[in-house]
This record gives sequence, structure tokens and C-alpha cells, in this order.
Amino acid sequence: MLVLGFESSCDETGVAMVETQGTGVPVLLSHALYSQIEMHQAFGGVVPELASRDHIRRVLPLTQEVLAGAGKSLQEVDVVAFTRGPGLAGALLVGAGVACAMAAALGKPVLGVHHLEGHLLSPFLSADPPEFPFVALLVSGGHTQLMRVDGVGRYELLGETIDDAAGEAFDKSAKLMGLAYPGGPLLARMAEKGNPKAYALPRPLLHSGNLDFSFAGLKTAVLVQSQKMVAAAGVPTFEALPEQARWDLAASTQAAIVDVLVKKSLTALKNSGLSRLVVAGGVGANRELRAQLNAECAKRKVRVHYPEMHLCTDNGAMIAMAAAMRLQSGLQQATQSYAFDVKPRWPLHSL
Ligand code: ATP
Ligand code: MG
Ligand code: FE
Repeated sequence: MLVLGFESSCDETGVAMVETQGTGVPVLLSHALYSQIEMHQAFGGVVPELASRDHIRRVLPLTQEVLAGAGKSLQEVDVVAFTRGPGLAGALLVGAGVACAMAAALGKPVLGVHHLEGHLLSPFLSADPPEFPFVALLVSGGHTQLMRVDGVGRYELLGETIDDAAGEAFDKSAKLMGLAYPGGPLLARMAEKGNPKAYALPRPLLHSGNLDFSFAGLKTAVLVQSQKMVAAAGVPTFEALPEQARWDLAASTQAAIVDVLVKKSLTALKNSGLSRLVVAGGVGANRELRAQLNAECAKRKVRVHYPEMHLCTDNGAMIAMAAAMRLQSGLQQATQSYAFDVKPRWPLHSL
């Protein structure tokens, strides 16, 4: 079965083709991605209306690219999948509209997919796919959750952030340091050269005893610390500080976020008795997070799985994959009803 998938929940247009092979892990044949980041950078964040319009411009050329890459024709597609939510309503509508129109024209069924289920199942696209059951640490730009996953569609929420997501904590701290949107990866690069113990930043809820997270206080602490450094050095802005000082604050910020993510993941593993951890979402690309999880999990004989680096942030491959795995599991059928809707807010554990 050939699944063509569309992702358009935010500022990446993604298209991909996945092929199911019996009950085995589906195989990615081809994928294409266009990131709108540069367009939004001038505004310091994603502008929803611009995002929707750009998805319209990109989606068909990307589809051509995917078909060519897979060596398939549109007529060979068995199911068309799209991100139904959560995300920006207008942006989601582009993917949903294109997917349903294409499916209707081809007389093929459609399937709306949950964006976070896409992230969650993206490690199945890697060379070292996980096996169920596992604990999942879902760390993206909009979500930070720990879940127990017993199979496709069997998700139990163990804990989540009560305010900002981990990706947001990276991005907001990066913005305070004068870095361009989304600053997470840039902050991580600066952190590589800094001392993570240089500044003591808060690790909210580290000892709360539950699996919830809170990152809103961290950005305030980063703001206060950066203002102190600027005042002490007598420079006009944070960017004017000596680079070592900036690297040190970046490293200390990253350490505060990573510490909490690692500690809570280990607690979730211990409480659940499971010996497998799956990390997914954009922050899963963070090298310090991976290094610490690898080290701690090795000590506990826990296997850790990640998405391929380039599939941590939004992409079409994870959407086609999630659709293929849902169909394969028999949990959901694709439909020939093309009256689509989108779900800008949609909790994953409600699936
Ligand atoms: P959601 O999936 O919750 O709707 P999203 O789609 O915007 O949100 P993703 O695409 O999964 O989120 O991830 C983007 C986030 O990942 C951004 O906040 C970005 O800064 C962060 N990120 C990406 N790479 C890194 C990195 N190396 N270190 C830290 N953060 C990173
Ligand atoms: Mg994005
Ligand atoms: Fe995402």
C-alpha cells in the first residue's frame, strides 16, 4: 500500500510517500520539505496568514518532487494522508484541502493524522526502529509530554508542561540573547563552547515528585541574569558581551532544560518498569540531551531511540508514516468522505 502524506501544521510544508510491507515497519520511499523559517524571521515568529499562503505555493511542486523521487505516479497512490491538527488553522486547512481534493480526483480514500502522533512515531523511520511498549519523551516547539506507549493509538499521558514547552524555553531564551527565530538550534551551538555550570538557573519542578514540567520561570531567570551581565560589563546589549560570557549563559540555559528532561524521563522509566525510551520532536535533535540520555540510559540498561536528525522537526515523512501505521494496525480506516475539517487544538491522548 502506498501512502502519500502532507504536513502543513505550522511553518514547514512537507510531503512524503511511504510504502507498507505486510506487517513490517513501513518504508519511506521519498520525502520533500520546504521550511518557511527565513520568511518569518523578520517578524520574530511565525505569521499565520503568511504561513498559509506559502503552503499553497509550495505544496504541489513538493508533491511532484516526491513522486519523481519515489518513481511513482499519482494514480498508484492508495491512501492520501494529511495533518488534521493540532496547529495553525489556516495552515492546516491548506494541507487538508489539497489532500482531500487530490484524493477525490483520484477516487482514493483519505486519512487525517495527529501531528504529535507523527512526531511520536517518527523514530520508526530510523535505521534503529523501536518496539512497543516504551516511554516517550515528546519535546517539540509546542509540547513537552511524557507518555506510556503500548502500541499505535495506545497512549497514556504521564506528565506534561504546565506552561511553556521545552522548545519554547529554548527559543524564548535564545531571543533574549539576540538570536534569530527559532533560536533553539543556535543557542545549542553557542552552548557547545560554554560552561554549563557558569550560572545557576532554576530547574522548575525537578523534585516535584510528579512528571510535570514548567519552563516559564526559566526565561525570566535568563532575562534577569543577562541584564545583570550587561550592567556589570557596562555594554549596551547582550550581544555586545564577550563571547565566552554569552556561550556560558547559553550552556547554563541548555543545562537547566536538559537536566529536567533527563531526570523526569528516568523517573517515568523507573515508575513504569519499562526499559525502552523514545525521544521525539524538534528538541530531540539537541546533542546535549542525546548525550545525557544515552549515558544515563546505558547505566540502566535502557534502550533509547531517536528520529533521524533531519526528521526531528516537522516533516511529511512522519505524517505518511503515522497514517501507514494506523492503517496497518487496523485502528482506523481511510474514508472516501472528502468533507474535511481540521483540529487546531487536539490532545494526543484523546486518540
Ligand atoms: P509542535 O510539534 O508541538 O506543534 P513544532 O512543530 O513547532 O511544535 P518541532 O518542529 O517539533 O515543533 O520542533 C521545533 C522546536 O525544536 C523549536 O522550538 C526549535 O528551537 C527546537 N529545536 C530544534 N533543534 C534544536 C536543538 N538542536 N536544540 C534545541 N532545540 C531545538
Ligand atoms: Mg517549524
Ligand atoms: Fe511539530
